[in-house]
Amino acid sequence: MLTTAPRGTNDVLPDTAPVWGWVEDKIREICRQYAYGELRPPIFEHTELFKRGVGETTDIVEKEMYTFNDRGGRSLTLRPEITAGLVRAFIEHKLYSGPQPVKLTCIGPGFRYERPQAGRFRQFTQWDVEVFGSQNPAIDAEVIQIGIELAGRLGLTGLVVHLNSIGCHQCRPVYREKLLEYYRPHLGGLCENCRSRCERNPLRLLDCKEEGCRPAAAGAPRVVECLCEECRVHFDGVKSYLEVLGVPYRVDPNIVRGLDYYTKTVFEVIYPPLGAQSTVWAGGRYDGLVETLGGPPTPGVGFALGMERLIMTLDKMGKTPAGDAGVDVFVAPMGSEALAPALQILSALRRQGYRAESDYLGRSLKSQMKHADRLGARYVAILGSNEIVNRTVTLRRMAGGDQIEVTWDELAARLTS
Ligand code: ATP
Ligand code: MG
Repeated sequence: MLTTAPRGTNDVLPDTAPVWGWVEDKIREICRQYAYGELRPPIFEHTELFKRGVGETTDIVEKEMYTFNDRGGRSLTLRPEITAGLVRAFIEHKLYSGPQPVKLTCIGPGFRYERPQAGRFRQFTQWDVEVFGSQNPAIDAEVIQIGIELAGRLGLTGLVVHLNSIGCHQCRPVYREKLLEYYRPHLGGLCENCRSRCERNPLRLLDCKEEGCRPAAAGAPRVVECLCEECRVHFDGVKSYLEVLGVPYRVDPNIVRGLDYYTKTVFEVIYPPLGAQSTVWAGGRYDGLVETLGGPPTPGVGFALGMERLIMTLDKMGKTPAGDAGVDVFVAPMGSEALAPALQILSALRRQGYRAESDYLGRSLKSQMKHADRLGARYVAILGSNEIVNRTVTLRRMAGGDQIEVTWDELAARLTS
């Protein structure tokens, strides 16, 4: 047990960590260009925040949270998602009283007690994007586009935007009743989850992944047909701005999202080859959430992207960049007296921007050469007693095997050629 990480967690090892860094760099670049500010909330919050923010009848709150009492007796929860914490911070720091809209982003871990499987973990990483303070459908379109822009810059294709609107507190209750009426006679044929959920949260039945529940969902009344005038106009706006931005989408009446706080726009971006966990990111509008959590009425829209699923998509498409090439130069001290000057040369090279390494195991020259080769070194700078006296190194080019003597001062310049 001591040597096995907890179920559902991952170690990102040094050979794949550069892919994460590459994706994160692209995200930061895009967020800067789209003028989103980074907000880094804590990783745990008061349990009540998620109960209220995510919703009591959701899977997350009912069975997936990592909740604990701290030594002071408070109930705290490792965040299952980032939105609630950002909303809490937005309210706490009165960001609503500054210029609007407030555009926020965050990358970090989330925690859910789920059954681990491909693309589903107990600790996972989300890139979160949220905009507070605008109801304009153009901002919904921007939020959808920013993720597609990232995918494009990573070289990904084949992602499909599934778009829907689930209405507002005006029109959703009407739809809810219609849906209940439709589902009641079908209940016998549905899975246990759907049966128990039907009266509390009938919209969730529409995205049940059970094979046996699919036909009933396919025949269900469509929420878009029950939208009030305001929601219908808003939905038309989102669609037309997506067209303006050149983002293809597919209206999908079965997209309802698992969290209670959504209003109007909901969307999922799906990469079908990922199989059962093919939603790479998902989000929507939540015009009631800020108020629900104790802030002034403030519209909001955002999404959360699963970094693990995005990286799986990159892998599947063969789009992960080649890893960092080997070290530029390996400084090889011959004997223990050579180590101190080797370290000085090493640190000077590093300061000049080279990726440089040396030997810390007191190896023979022969096995240092072997080690340098394993590290992919382009050059080896050999430092023996003669070289130390002359303040030189013997510089060997690994590809050709040719070597020359160069002074310490000219060493760096020789590496570039
Ligand atoms: P799913 O339908 O896959 O359970 P969800 O509706 O629970 O997803 P959200 O809460 O909307 O997902 O989270 C947004 C994104 O975060 C998901 O699309 C997914 O990429 C990622 N995500 C959510 N839960 C996990 C998890 N347990 N492991 C890995 N990634 C996750
Ligand atoms: Mg889930």
